[in-house]
Order: sequence, then C-alpha cells, then structure tokens
Amino acid sequence: MDAKPDFRTLQHFIAGDWVDAAGGRTFEVLNPLDDSLYARAARGSGDDMRKAVAAAAAAFGNYRETLPRERERWLLRIAEIMEERKQDLLDCLIDEIGSPVQKAMFEFDKGLTMIRAAAGMCRNVRGETIPSDAPGKFSMSIREPLGVVAVITPFNVPLIKTTRLVANALAVGNTVVHLPSEMAPHLSLLFAEIVAEAGFPAGAYNVVTGYGHEIGDDLTGHETVDFVTFTGSSVVGQHISEICARNKTPNTLELGGKSPTVILADADLEKAVPLAARSIFMFGGQACIGSSRFYVERPVYDEFVKRFAAIASKVGMGDLRDPATVIAPIISERQRARVRDHIADAVAKGATIVTGGDWEGNRCRPTLLTGVTGDMTVCRSETFGPVTAIYPIDSYEEGLEKANDTDYGLSSAIFTRDIDKAFHFARNIGAGMCHINGPTIHDEAHVPFGGNGASGVGREGTDSDMEAMTELKWVTVQL
Ligand code: NAD
Repeated sequence: MDAKPDFRTLQHFIAGDWVDAAGGRTFEVLNPLDDSLYARAARGSGDDMRKAVAAAAAAFGNYRETLPRERERWLLRIAEIMEERKQDLLDCLIDEIGSPVQKAMFEFDKGLTMIRAAAGMCRNVRGETIPSDAPGKFSMSIREPLGVVAVITPFNVPLIKTTRLVANALAVGNTVVHLPSEMAPHLSLLFAEIVAEAGFPAGAYNVVTGYGHEIGDDLTGHETVDFVTFTGSSVVGQHISEICARNKTPNTLELGGKSPTVILADADLEKAVPLAARSIFMFGGQACIGSSRFYVERPVYDEFVKRFAAIASKVGMGDLRDPATVIAPIISERQRARVRDHIADAVAKGATIVTGGDWEGNRCRPTLLTGVTGDMTVCRSETFGPVTAIYPIDSYEEGLEKANDTDYGLSSAIFTRDIDKAFHFARNIGAGMCHINGPTIHDEAHVPFGGNGASGVGREGTDSDMEAMTELKWVTVQL
C-alpha cells in the first residue's frame, strides 16, 4: 500500500461530492510563516466551474421551496458543528494563512455570529401590502430568491466572509458557487464539510478551488449566475464590475481601503492610542478596514507619536499559537515585496521610520512613518501590512479635508470629545463607515458593511444582503 502523503490534498465540493479537478491538476498552498507546503489543492478549470454552476442551478428548483424552519435549522446546525470543530477551524486559520490564535479566535467568534444572524433571516424574507388606486385591486410586493449566487472571498478573513456571505445567500433561498482565495482554499472546504453535515441538500453549496485569474471569469461571466458578491482587491473588483455590467448581473463589491483616523487635541489619548494600534496591527495590517493614515492635531501630535511608537515596538511577534501574538506573516512573496517597496519608497523620498521597518522572517515589524508626503506610494495606495503614517494637522477642518483626499472610502474614525465635530465628521467623510471614539476595525453581522469609490459598491450584512440577494416582485389580485 502507498504511504499517505504528508500534506493535505484538497478537492472541489460540487453537487455534494468531493471531486478532483478535471484533468487532475493541482496547485500548492503554502504556510506563510515559513513557506512550507500546507496543502495541494485541485486547480479548477472552466469545466469545473461550469459543472459547479450547473449543480447550483439544478439544486435551486427544490432548494427555493425549502421551508424557513428547514433552512433555519440547517444554519443553526452549522453553528453547532462549528463549535464541535472549533480546533480544526482555528488550526486552519493559523497554518493556512498565518493567523495568530488571537485573530483566529476573533474570526471564529464572528463567524458563529454571522451564521446565527443568517438563521434569523429565514423567517424575514418579507414583502408588503401596497395601497392601490384601482378599485378592487389588492396589491403587494413579494421577495423571491435570485437563483445562483457567486461568492468570491479573499485570503485575510476567509471564515468571516465565507460564513456571512454563503449563509446569507442560503438563508434567503439561493444556491451558491464559492471561489475562495487560492491562498485559503482549505478553510472553505472545511466549511463545506460542515454545511454537508448540517443537512443542506446536495448542490446548495459548491466550492471550486483554483486561481481566480484562471477561472474567475468562468464564474462571474456565466449566464446562469444571478448575483455576484466579491470581496478582494480593487483591481480585480473593477474587472468583475465590467463583466457584471456587460451581463447586467447585480453585484456587491467589497474592495480595498486606505482608511483614515483623525485625532483631535481633546481626544482621550489613554484610550485612543491602544485602539489606534489595534486598528493597524491586527493580523499584521492585512485588514481592509485597517487604519493606514492618522491625522493628529498639532498640540497632541508629539505625544501621540511617542505613545503610539511605544506600543508599536512591543506588539507581540511570537509563536502564532501564543495569545499575546498580534503580528502575522505577510501572506505571499508578492505581498511582502509590496510592503517592502512602500517602506523603501517612503524612506527614499524623505520619510522617517519612527519604529519598525525591518523584518523577522516573513513578518514585518510594526512600522510607523512620519514626514510622509503625497508623492510617496504609501500615502495613497493600500499597503496591506503593519505600516501606517502619522500626519500633523492644524485644525479639524484640515483633518477632514485630508481624510477625504483619497480614491478609497471604506472605514474611518475620529477621536474627540466634541460631539458637534464628531457628527460633522461622520456625515461628511466620504467613507461607508465611521466610528466615533472607536477603531476603524469593527464589523457586526447585521450592520451595513461596505465602502464607496475604489472601496466598492453596495453593502453586506443581514438587512443589506436580504435586499441585494432577493428580487422584490410586485403582485396584484383583482378582487
Ligand atoms: P484578490 O483580489 O487578490 O483576491 C480575492 C479573490 O478574487 C480570490 O478569491 C481570487 O481567487 C479572486 N480572483 C482573482 N482574479 C479573479 C477574477 N478575474 N475573477 C474573479 N475572481 C478573481 O484579494 P486578496 O489579496 O485575496 O485580498 C486582499 C484584498 O481584499 C485587499 O485589497 C483588501 O482590502 C480586500 N478586502 C476587502 C474587504 C472588504 O470587506 N471591503 C475585506 C477583506 C479584504
């Protein structure tokens, strides 16, 4: 008998079956901590993707007729099985994408909440009665599921995104084809095992693994796909948006960010500085809503920089399974090169590294930059590493203007005791989300999460996905 290989082999999950890629091709998934082989996964082709879409389309006819109590029960069962398999999910988040256990736990807890909140959607797929000017006409709106939903997720929060988007689509009666990040396929396949065990019918949820640039268009451009929800980089989002526009496929796009935090002179620095650190260093800065720009009023600028640097230089970089560890390895060599380039470009053009800037293996030390100017890449482009710039401002008005000087518009924050300025900021910042006296990193299952401009289109969350992932149909009855 052949010896068992010492790495995982991952297959697609299509129509309730585990299958190899057509042609048997595979690709390597590396553990980002040391670039060792984590798994070999099926390298999907256009044929695999078409098979998955056909399976989801075939399953839709019966699935849309399932009762709310069935979908609710299956979703709540997912949450139970997730708790039973918590260690498998945590290990995967740690070893497949390099999550420190603290971030893996955060994702796991959020994921559970996403599933339970989705279960609550099943009984709320509602329309309304509408007054009519026509005598004897009874008029109403009803909500119908759309059909096949394409879910495309990034590497950095695979469990949060998978639980939220897949569960919300299934809750309202759609079937799903999921293309997970090529850097995080195992997590979604673990989730597929859980979905199957929870009792969902075959074909309701399908996962095809592979390179997005090879098979993404076969999904988003497929004529049978009725809705696309994409989370990832702004460049890929733009491409998908063009495909969806051609086919008139409705979509939501959750893309990158360059989220600002404004610190006014009256802010409580004792509270603001640790939250500032949390908002950029969590998962080594690989968070779409991380704050990579801090605008600090001059009277507290020096003190803020001093306190921020003191925290940054002590952020945990130990074993990923140590709860004190915060800094994660940067996911891939391509991403590492981007982080290095952003720091080197800033330094070459005159910025100062207050702390950090160097690396330990594949982990970049928490890095604070001052003296950053508009011609530096780090000022405008998403770095996706533990790197942030601190800029002095002379007034609140200047802070708002600079915070708005970006193509992105995802999250934002302001720290102040002045309620008028805080609300003025919340209403005038060109971002989809604003947190007053809280960090830019915040998410909940039922809130409208999302951004504007280069950060995307549409919102996700239970209410928003209910709107987006169902069709509102007008029905009348002549009595
Ligand atoms: P990415 O754009 O490289 O990949 C995201 C997904 O897109 C992957 O599943 C990939 O396989 C797929 N893909 C690639 N080409 C495709 C194509 N042509 N068609 C369809 N799918 C394709 O992003 P990433 O590096 O995995 O994630 C990091 C990015 O995601 C950052 O920009 C970050 O800000 C963003 N992000 C945004 C949010 C949000 O909610 N706004 C959340 C997390 C991450």
